[in-house]
Amino acid sequence: MSRPAYDDQNIFARILRGEIPCNKVDECPHTLSFSDIQPQASVHILVIPKGSYVDMADFAAHAPAEEQAAFVAALGRVAHQVGVAESGFRLIANTGQNGHQEVPHLHMHILGGEPLGPMCPRPS
Ligand code: 5GP
Repeated sequence: MSRPAYDDQNIFARILRGEIPCNKVDECPHTLSFSDIQPQASVHILVIPKGSYVDMADFAAHAPAEEQAAFVAALGRVAHQVGVAESGFRLIANTGQNGHQEVPHLHMHILGGEPLGPMCPRPS
């Protein structure tokens, strides 16, 4: 399966290289988690792999099992750390053009801290 081109100037690649600051909440050898700069809920964290993956399809097809396991583990760990594991939360991975992905480095949004309403209204 061919891989999509990865733009190493995207904002999350620059955060990973330390060129741009972030409000870090968690880090492991394979992942970094930090607050979203424009929170859409009272808790809004981004979890990203340290490897260069454009989106979830790229990651699922090409990341080694160890990196995939670390990513899932980070989601659970961070949900506990920021206090939403018991009250509930939403994971979102906007993917590609129809998914309205703005930053072309895989990231999972963790949203919570308040009732989030129904999942996703259809655009008018
Ligand atoms: P997407 O639409 O690609 O799923 O989400 C990209 C997210 O990245 C948005 O929620 C946006 O607020 C966040 N974001 C964009 N630039 C920065 C930044 O420089 N720092 C942080 N922490 N978040 C950012």
